[in-house]
Amino acid sequence: MSPNSWRGEVFPGGIRLAAVHQPTRHRLPGTMRATMSSYDALLTRLADVDALLAASGIMEWDQQTYMPPGGAEARAAHVGILSRLAHETMVADETRALLEKARAEAEPGSDQAALIRVAQRDLDLRTKIPASLVEEKSRLASIAHEEWVRARKESNFKGFQGTLERMFEIVRQEAEYLGYKDHIYDALLDQYEEGATAADCRRMFEDIKAPIVALVKDIVENGKTIDDHLLYGEWSVDRQREFTERIVAKVGYDMKRGRQDTAPHPFCTGWSVGDIRITTRYKDYIGSAIFGSLHEAGHAMYEQGSPSEWDRTPLAGGVSLGVHESQSRLWENIVGRSEAFWRYFLHELEALFPQLAAFSPHTFYRAVNKVEPSFIRVEADEVTYNLHIMVRFEIECDVLTGAMKVADMPDAWNEKYRQYLGITPRKDAEGCLQDVHWSMGSIGYFPTYSMGNLLSYQIWHTLQRDIPNTDELIGKGEFAPIHGWLKEKIYSQGRKYTPKELIQRVTGKPMSAEDYLEGLTAKYRHLYAI
Ligand code: ZN
Repeated sequence: MSPNSWRGEVFPGGIRLAAVHQPTRHRLPGTMRATMSSYDALLTRLADVDALLAASGIMEWDQQTYMPPGGAEARAAHVGILSRLAHETMVADETRALLEKARAEAEPGSDQAALIRVAQRDLDLRTKIPASLVEEKSRLASIAHEEWVRARKESNFKGFQGTLERMFEIVRQEAEYLGYKDHIYDALLDQYEEGATAADCRRMFEDIKAPIVALVKDIVENGKTIDDHLLYGEWSVDRQREFTERIVAKVGYDMKRGRQDTAPHPFCTGWSVGDIRITTRYKDYIGSAIFGSLHEAGHAMYEQGSPSEWDRTPLAGGVSLGVHESQSRLWENIVGRSEAFWRYFLHELEALFPQLAAFSPHTFYRAVNKVEPSFIRVEADEVTYNLHIMVRFEIECDVLTGAMKVADMPDAWNEKYRQYLGITPRKDAEGCLQDVHWSMGSIGYFPTYSMGNLLSYQIWHTLQRDIPNTDELIGKGEFAPIHGWLKEKIYSQGRKYTPKELIQRVTGKPMSAEDYLEGLTAKYRHLYAI
């Protein structure tokens, strides 16, 4: 499981498919009665798939939160069976036939046409890869996971190398089945971010590489380190829970349609707009719970904001991993790590933790934005984060095209960390063995994190044209205008448009690094007085 994925799982099981048990009561507007029959039949069919996925989703949530360890084996079997039934129902000839008929009847540009397009994409992603290869990958992934855990523990890349070579081979075959025009990477990335390509990623990293590497260098060489010791200590779990529940509710996460529990790796999951759940974790670094909760609440508010008439249909939910991540990062970093946020919330935190009473909002703001090149991606600060992703993207591309051998990954990794971050991992456990993704065969996934970072600033920049006084609002704890804007422009659009269409519609331009670089540079040059 990826700790940063917005659900406890990585695509394709994570994207909600359709469900409407009583189609006559859940019709989407705008279609004539005479044309409803195939469409209703399709919705009913997809409802079965949705219910099966919801059942396994609840089981997986329970597994990460409350299940006693003894339940693991049976739970894996139960989830496996439900996933298989969902898959078989989805890919059956009947579903395909219903899609064909419904498509012939749908008005172009209607919600129905959008729903059919999205359902067809979900079906294609599930059927283009032969079942035998899916099975082989899943078998290899379970072996790979155990080997990876051991290899990381012993920091022994050789113990994982053979299996990783096999995994890359399988993923290469997957890409061939999925199909692509220009670059093998395009096929893989498209699964997580529809329409995105290796060329898009290369442009993105090309644009941010020099300015970010220079900014990090300036921060490090400037020597003015930020003292963040105030964020470490023993913090009552109950009080952390109270505080994090208060802030996520205040920014707009509807607790009547959600809840927060504890899990080792925070995630967000859900099965209807009425039930979208988040998890967090409590550590000696108090930022872990605060920013983990805000991050997951960002994912959750996106999901909660789907129109209720789309609930349990394929149109509900987030459009892609990149856009999803833009919403979690926006609330976590742009709102949650702003000085205004702490002008409003610090006194509440101090009331729960009097040991913080000596610190001003400005001191707290500086501490939660400390920049320090480090080896581990999931602990990286906002400035260095994308450099971690760039290393992974470049290596994935080179291994997929054969330009790099799996055996050479550790050296390449360490050299790139030296170049981009100015640090060299001392061992592979803090280098190329740190992430779970490759053991699962989730290759092509990483760039969506960086896209989320860029898009969060691009969307925020657009939001500020309509709401110029965001700082003042945040400082007064008034989040409704910001939440309302995001809901109108993004959350309520569900999966109706492709990610590229949505970004163009919302921000008036394709994804670009401009606003991200401007926002990040201004914030951190000011913070570090450089
Ligand atoms: Zn996330």
